Amino acid sequence: MTRILHLSVHTSPLAPLGGRDAGGMNVYVLELSRALGELGYQVDVMTRLDGDLPPIAPLGPNVRLVRLAAGPPLPLPKDDIARCGAEFAREALAFVAREGRGYDLIHSHYWQSARIGLALARAWNVPHAVMFHTLGAVKNRARVSEAEPRRRIAAERLAARRADAVVTASRHERELLVRDYGADPSRLVTIPCGIDLELFAPRNRAQARARLGVPPEPPLLVWVGRLEPLKGVDILVDAFAQLQRRDALLWIVGGDTDAEAYRSALEAQARERGVRERVRFTGPMPHTELPWLYSAADVCVVPSYYESFGLVAVEAMACGTPVVASRVGGLAETVIDGVTGYLIPWRCPEPFAEKLDVLLANPELRANFGRAGRRVAERFRWPSVAARIASLYEALRAGRRRGARFRDEIYEATLLAGGQL
Ligand code: UDP
Repeated sequence: MTRILHLSVHTSPLAPLGGRDAGGMNVYVLELSRALGELGYQVDVMTRLDGDLPPIAPLGPNVRLVRLAAGPPLPLPKDDIARCGAEFAREALAFVAREGRGYDLIHSHYWQSARIGLALARAWNVPHAVMFHTLGAVKNRARVSEAEPRRRIAAERLAARRADAVVTASRHERELLVRDYGADPSRLVTIPCGIDLELFAPRNRAQARARLGVPPEPPLLVWVGRLEPLKGVDILVDAFAQLQRRDALLWIVGGDTDAEAYRSALEAQARERGVRERVRFTGPMPHTELPWLYSAADVCVVPSYYESFGLVAVEAMACGTPVVASRVGGLAETVIDGVTGYLIPWRCPEPFAEKLDVLLANPELRANFGRAGRRVAERFRWPSVAARIASLYEALRAGRRRGARFRDEIYEATLLAGGQL
């Protein structure tokens, strides 16, 4: 059985979602590892132990979570976790020695894991695939969050050049890696993120509203995610205040105690604009509850300054809800402007308000966008996404065995799969 190691050092796939550091990547790692387990791979996901938790926990058939002690067993800020890298790598080597069996391939997530993955792949002489999820240089360019440390960008640059393959979830991220990081295009593979289409499916709107306690009549806009400035929720609050419909409601879903400062600023902004009583900050919602939320909503808004893929937009579309999103990163490749929602090229509230007014005034348009959204979301079915990742793994392993160039192997695998990698 092929054994795959996923490194997700700074955050666990079982971390509660919607906090500052747990969002799309956690969902991705959990779902991908489970889908690979279904395909017959044996998968371990390694993360840092950050509480009084068992060192090994099952995640599904063939899939385990392995928690390694590196640094104090407590939640730590990301910067402090970065300092535990060498200890984590030593613990990983010791774990493999103890178990007496190694891995056939490493797949690292985020720059902190990529750094450790490079070292482990070298020690074990196995192929290494990396996925960054977000890029430090791009976050810095957006200039709305704290500046990302130089060592992050240096680590990303190194991993982009040294890893056997870099998986990007969008063509946009691929271009950035080539242009800003000097990555070799022949090592980049674009495979979108997947969606659980059974979970994220349209539900009855009246039932959904009753379940969440939303009155049946007023329009409901929703925003979902990790509550941080890069998500552009300030643009949404201003757009909301400009809407013609004065009875509309806005639910902001996500954001735990780590997000207190941003949340207070947004509350103050809503108060100043005279809409505070119609804006509700719900805090994080369980992932399995979100299909009800999207189904209760008239529109899901994703006003991010940057989004490398943007799972929330696709989840909403899968539930038949139109999306109004910034035309940035992966969103420009999942939301189809004028078909499943609208893409707004400017980071300012007026064009958001304009498109939201159009949608709120037009139930038929919303229904059409919703139906189209579901069809588009069906392209992101997990089993087919996982099969593409698996063919990448096989190509990398075959390349290692034959000493062939990665590009040739990918090309061959693509031809065999009869599709585009
Ligand atoms: N999410 C959740 N509950 C919350 C907030 C977010 O389950 O309260 C999930 C959401 O469904 C999505 C993920 O967190 O799957 C956020 O992913 P996205 O790609 O939109 O943003 P990222 O976290 O990658 O910036």
